[in-house]
Amino acid sequence: KPTVILVIGMAGSGKTTFLQRLNAHLHASQHPGYIVNLDPAVMHVPYGAHVDIRDTVNYKNVMKQYSLGPNGAILTSLNLFATRFDQVISLCEKPRDPPLQFIVADTPGQIEIFTWSASGAIITEAFAASFPTMVAYIIDTPRCVGPQTFMTNMLQACSLLYKTRLPVLLVFNKVDVARHEFALDWMADFEAFHQALDSEQSYAATLSRSMSLVLEQFYQNMRAVGVSAVTGEGMQDFMNAVAACRKEYEEQYLPDLERRK
Ligand code: GDP
Ligand code: MG
Repeated sequence: KPTVILVIGMAGSGKTTFLQRLNAHLHASQHPGYIVNLDPAVMHVPYGAHVDIRDTVNYKNVMKQYSLGPNGAILTSLNLFATRFDQVISLCEKPRDPPLQFIVADTPGQIEIFTWSASGAIITEAFAASFPTMVAYIIDTPRCVGPQTFMTNMLQACSLLYKTRLPVLLVFNKVDVARHEFALDWMADFEAFHQALDSEQSYAATLSRSMSLVLEQFYQNMRAVGVSAVTGEGMQDFMNAVAACRKEYEEQYLPDLERRK
């Protein structure tokens, strides 16, 4: 069975660019992926999507028809699409020669539209019930060199893990602009993180300091890679981490899913 990689991240973190890079990488390594675009508002998809939400729902029409703003229209489009998601699963399950190895899904630009909506949950669970599924959480590395934005990002990843229960891989993107080693250091050693917070005594800094202690366990179980969607650096590390996440799905998520049935 192919592995499903759900690409999730804040607007501008580089999801679409990363997908384009991943698509090229899979092609070059003779493992063509099946690409699903779940962003109804994207203007231009720089890769050939096999399934595109835009072929089913017209976001601009949804906006007019239901008198919605952009976010409401994206959410409604996703809801409309979710009602027919069993068809997408069937397409993904179709036997192929050579068999599919990866299914990659790009999610809407605004992270909460996917992670905090019923349709996002339906789509995630539909994938996870049929295929080994994982989340690739794309992080804008240059934008989290500050310890407090870094913490915001880690809490978001934590929340993703709780919401989906799926293996989450931290993908520190844009390493061509800022290296990600500082982040790995902060995850491995809370004293290094405390040092970065300096002696700041604001409420937020104090909370960040405490959070880093709480998150220690979370960090230990978290896989992280540094990549550049632009230069292609780190793609092999990414693929290795995907394989590890698939294993985690099989060993942890799947037995849990069977129990919940
Ligand atoms: P999305 O909103 O998460 O889909 O983000 P996009 O893929 O549209 O990227 C947002 C911006 O970040 C664009 O200007 C990209 O060119 C840029 N970008 C994405 N990945 C990288 C990267 O690895 N390095 C650099 N330097 N820029 C990147
Ligand atoms: Mg995008």
